[in-house]
Parts: sequence; C-alpha cells; structure tokens
Amino acid sequence: MSPHFESRNVPAHDEDALFMHVALSEAERFIGATAPNPPVGACLVKDGRILGQGAHMRAGGPHAEIVAIERAASAHGSGALKDAALYVTLEPCNHHGKTSPCADAILEAGISRVVIGALDPNPNVVGDGAGKLRAAGRRVELDAADGDCRRLIAPFAKWSTTGLPWVTHKLAYRVTPEGRLTMIPESGGDTTFTSDRSLREAHLERRKSDAILTGLGTVLADHPKFNVRHVPDHKNRRRYLIVMSESGAEPPREWLEQEWDLGFEVLVVSDLRATLKHLGELGVHRVLVEAGPTLSAAIKAERLWDERVVFVQRRPRPEDLLSGEALDYAYREFAADAAWKKN
Ligand SMILES: [Zn+2]
Repeated sequence: MSPHFESRNVPAHDEDALFMHVALSEAERFIGATAPNPPVGACLVKDGRILGQGAHMRAGGPHAEIVAIERAASAHGSGALKDAALYVTLEPCNHHGKTSPCADAILEAGISRVVIGALDPNPNVVGDGAGKLRAAGRRVELDAADGDCRRLIAPFAKWSTTGLPWVTHKLAYRVTPEGRLTMIPESGGDTTFTSDRSLREAHLERRKSDAILTGLGTVLADHPKFNVRHVPDHKNRRRYLIVMSESGAEPPREWLEQEWDLGFEVLVVSDLRATLKHLGELGVHRVLVEAGPTLSAAIKAERLWDERVVFVQRRPRPEDLLSGEALDYAYREFAADAAWKKN
C-alpha cells in the first residue's frame, strides 16, 4: 500500500506485538474522546523495558508520541531515549497543526526504531511522517499487531476518506417461548438486558460514541436516558443525541429537558442519509444506533451500518437457577467492506 514499506517477509518479534498492544491499550482508553482526531497510543521501549507510554487524550492536546516521550524523559532523563524504540498505533504526523510535528520530536529524541501500527489514512494529510523518519536513517516498520491498529482507527479512516461517520448498530434480541428472536421486550419486563456484563458492554459503546441515534418511537415508549452509566464516561464529554422522527413530530418537552441536563445536544431529524452527512460535517466519527425495530430495519435495509453489537437474551433453563449463569450474551460483527480489513 505504501511506497515506504516492503511487505513483511521476516517474522515479527513477539515483543513487537506485545509492545504494540501496550500502545493500543493506551489508545483504547480514549476512544470517543478525541474526535475530530483519531485515538492514538504510544509506548517507548529500550532493552526490553518500557520507558514511558501515553495516548492522545483529546483534540487540541499533545499527540501520543509526545506524551510518551515526555513521560519517559521525566522518569529516566532525556538521554535514556537515545536508541530507544517507539511503538505508535498511527503513523507519526509531519505537519504543523495545533502542535509541532511528532516526526521532528522523534528525531530530536534520538529514537532509532519506530514501529507503526497503521499508516495515516487521511488523504488530505500534508507530509509523510514515516518517509521523513526513514529518510533520516531511522528503522521504520509497520503493522506489528496484525491489523488491530487499522481496526482501532477504522471510524477515523471512514470519516477522513468519505466524510461520513462510522455507524455502530446496537441490537438487542430475546428468545420468545416459541423460540423466535424478537427485539420487543417482554410485556412488563425491562427494556434493557440486566446482566452486569451486557450493561457495561452497552454503556462502553456509548462512551466510545460521538453521537447516539434513536427513533421517536423509542423515546415515546421508554423515555430513555442516553447518558453513560455502569462505566465511567470521559470527562466533560458532550454528545449529539439524534432523534429520527419521520413525521417531524417533536419529542416530549420533559424528555428533551432530561437529555439537555445530561449534556446532550438533541437534533430531531427526518432523513437518515442527510443526517449522517451532516454529522460528518460536525466532526462526528462514531454514531451509535440504539433504536427499536422500525429504525433498526431501515439501518439494515439501507446498509448504513459498519459494525453491529448484538445482544441476545436466551430463555432460562432450570439449571440456570442453580448456576446463576447470565442469560444473555453479545457478539460483534463488521460489514463485509469495512476498510480496516484491507491492507
Ligand atoms: Zn503528531
């Protein structure tokens, strides 16, 4: 894909994958906090020892490489970085934005080897961080984590190449006594699944999102709160809450006030595709769809989803009463054409 990298014919050091996952774990903590920038993590290593690690925590804040370099320098002295290896989940920048180029900081620190998880997918990016490092005689290698770093920035890659946000569709089914799957909760039952694991998973999806999309029917039926609970949210995080209302009818005032108080900017819309385009223009990378059967069917029919998180609640069996085993489980799937799958 890139003129700067030969395909990897030499086996990776196991250590490379390990340290890249340290960098990935840093980045993953800030998914949902960095738009319109991608989440990025970095880890500095010398003689098999981690000197420092860090992440890009919010737009306007320092890049991950800089955080890791500064932490390593303050813990071990700036001389310790000479001939260290940097593991970074995304190609270091080589352009002056709100901060000076990371490629320059890497060169100045004397880092001799840079392992990059994914190339910058942004076609508008000015400069070529990997090329600059290589031209300065540093060893540059790619993709130590076998696609995981491309997957991390898939929403950013989609947004920066198409202008559209990545759509994660959350679906929750239960199995009826007749053995059918339905999205409709049992009458008198809760509208969400109640195992701790599923609740945390569902709220982590909210935490990762920049906008939540729901339907007016869901609002009228349940008056749901769409804030992040069950897991800690990012600090001072404000999100868009989009209500699909084909008729143009407004949600009840009381519910709107509830969501405003939770920090949402609520938009009532009637055109799904135009809304996704508009959200992209607002810098939204990740939209989470939490909707009932009607809007969910439209998302599916128009193939608007990139990722699905599917929760299934099965019927209890007699032995479950003894084991206390959770009655629900979740799985995740990606659209067949998801960009991160390609090299
Ligand atoms: Zn940078």
